[in-house]
Amino acid sequence: MNKSKEKIDIDLYKDLRIDCRKCFGFCCVALYFSAFEGFPSDKEAGKPCSNLNEDFSCKIHKNLRSKGLKGCTSYDCFGAGQKVAQTTYTGKSWRDNPESAKKMFDAFLVIKQLHEMQWYLTDALNKSSDKDIKPRISALMDETKEMTMLREDSLRTLDLESHRDRVNLLLKKTSKEVRSTLLKGRENNLKQKRRVAGRLDLIGAELKKTNLRGADLSGALLMAADLRNNELNCTDLIGADLRDADLRGADLTNTIYITQAQINTAKGDLSTKLPAHIVRPSYWTD
Ligand code: SF4
Repeated sequence: MNKSKEKIDIDLYKDLRIDCRKCFGFCCVALYFSAFEGFPSDKEAGKPCSNLNEDFSCKIHKNLRSKGLKGCTSYDCFGAGQKVAQTTYTGKSWRDNPESAKKMFDAFLVIKQLHEMQWYLTDALNKSSDKDIKPRISALMDETKEMTMLREDSLRTLDLESHRDRVNLLLKKTSKEVRSTLLKGRENNLKQKRRVAGRLDLIGAELKKTNLRGADLSGALLMAADLRNNELNCTDLIGADLRDADLRGADLTNTIYITQAQINTAKGDLSTKLPAHIVRPSYWTD
């Protein structure tokens, strides 16, 4: 049996899922965003969204989708918000300490990147069966987690770029291992090779009947692509842009490196099969 088909350890993703009740609305304050990207207005980083309540809830939470605010419904911080709120700043908010607000927002941006790396490493650990690589992934996961526990002054001095390089190396190795185990020398039948800024251009592509098993679609532009009923077994989707990609009836249970934010931006329904660590968006109905 392909090892990647084995049961994955869901608990490892526990701290990497958003829990807005434990956060201080960091994504609604710390980030720059624009109306063009599906947010309520153009906003500078560090300025609270006008819809953010005093208790950090959103005034229009129930109506975000009907108002077309896809940026808000898609965003996912990999659980960085609650980590910064509850661990780094031990429950003290930027409203309580306005003088520390900028430092808190900077810490959020660093921890978000570290949690994202942890997410991918978790996926790699769950999928790899390489006896040499698995312990290296595990060690790097521990190291990354330790970094998220640092105080704000130490967070600022981290060399995130070189850490990311080390993470990417293991992610690539694992993707190759998992895909080649499945393919056993065979190829998928994806014909499109055209690239835009280095990314595979599959915008609006008709891929319903294309065999994408074991395909490397990392970074691919898949906006509005038709992937209905496709089985994306061991398909590497790291960094792929799935905005409005049609995933109805598709099977993503065994994709590599899929994230909640990617799923939130795509179109799916109750027939879309998702990995156990991904939550089905509430607006994916029949
Ligand atoms: S509309 Fe709501 S969810 Fe979106 S940024 Fe503003 S407060 Fe946050």
